[in-house]
Amino acid sequence: MKPFAYARPADVAEAVRDVAAEPNAVFLAGGTNLVDHLKLGVARPDLVVDVRTLTSREVTDLPDGGLRLGAASTNSEVAADRRVLERYPVLAQALLAGATGQLRNTATTGGNPLQRTRCVYFQDVTTPCNKREPGSGCTAVGGYTRYHAVLGTTSALPDPTAAETCIATHPSDMAVALAALDAQVQVLGPRGERTVPFTELHRLPGDDPSRDTTLEHGELITAIDLPPLPAGTRSAYRKVRDRASYAFALVSVAAVISGEDVRIALGGVAHKPWRATRAEELLRGAELTDAAVRTAMEAELAAAQPQPGEGGGNGFKIPLVNRTVVATLRALTSEGQS
Ligand SMILES: Cc1cc2nc3c(=O)[nH]c(=O)nc-3n(C[C@H](O)[C@H](O)[C@H](O)COP(=O)(O)OP(=O)(O)OC[C@H]3O[C@@H](n4cnc5c(N)ncnc54)[C@H](O)[C@@H]3O)c2cc1C
Ligand code: SF4
Repeated sequence: MKPFAYARPADVAEAVRDVAAEPNAVFLAGGTNLVDHLKLGVARPDLVVDVRTLTSREVTDLPDGGLRLGAASTNSEVAADRRVLERYPVLAQALLAGATGQLRNTATTGGNPLQRTRCVYFQDVTTPCNKREPGSGCTAVGGYTRYHAVLGTTSALPDPTAAETCIATHPSDMAVALAALDAQVQVLGPRGERTVPFTELHRLPGDDPSRDTTLEHGELITAIDLPPLPAGTRSAYRKVRDRASYAFALVSVAAVISGEDVRIALGGVAHKPWRATRAEELLRGAELTDAAVRTAMEAELAAAQPQPGEGGGNGFKIPLVNRTVVATLRALTSEGQS
């Protein structure tokens, strides 16, 4: 492991100043992702700034009826919170679908959405990877693509030598639920505070796959706000994976039904949690029959690009995610009728 300096600042303002002043500095929260990357040589910072005890660990009521999740609240604490269970079951279900009890006891609200891709080549420092080492190329194209993206990619077979190529997916379950809930991210940075809509926190690879998010260097997540939901809102998270626990999503679906509105976010299919806005438009006010949902999802997935690769590639994800959305909405609507 490359040696690095370690700092435990007194407060969030000092933590932001410390990271902003050192171009190769990172924040440390629960460490369940970052520490692995330090050991593997994937992350090679000069300075690690520990923020675990600096941000709030509380889940608090907001005046508008929403909830604020302090960035240091653990995934276990949020999943067990009575208000989350009653009002935002999609979030509790997504959290409980992730990792293991021990990991969830340590992983935080701030760190979970910022965990990095599980692309095997990203974690293998012997292989070219534009995300880890900009400009080196992308080993995943034509390689092991089972966990890779089908949406938001440039083509069915991107150029593996091009500096902008990356077909990685974002691995967080929590982030998919937060995207469907239209959560808001509270950020403190060198230029002060700002609020980032959760759907704008993550980015597609564009011309710089090394950047996962729209956060600037030194910006710290201090809390994530869940907006209030109208009475009668129903929500659920469904995750499809290779084994029943301790596995990342092949595909996942977070769905929220409020009156005539249906919000759908997809995991395991893109570089960011993917809001299925085309399908949402088609389903607004419609009767949510299996056929209507399937057709809306076909429209959403029309631009999907399956990636070839070892073991048959990842084209299976396109019908799989469609079926998973149908099953999730069917369960939610039959629940509402019972
Ligand atoms: C074996 C294993 C299985 C897993 N399975 C799943 C799974 O099925 N589903 C799933 O969703 N996750 C899974 N995870 C990932 C786990 O959920 C994440 O590692 C965890 O949520 C990261 O949170 P953390 O607080 O430990 O972050 P850290 O590891 O401390 O940090 C992660 C990143 O976020 C940055 N960061 C942390 N806090 C802040 C902040 N407040 N502001 C700005 N930047 C910050 C850090 O600099 C770092 O880049 C798994 C992990 C392991 C090890
Ligand atoms: S898909 Fe992205 S993370 Fe994976 S090897 Fe290619 S550039 Fe790296």
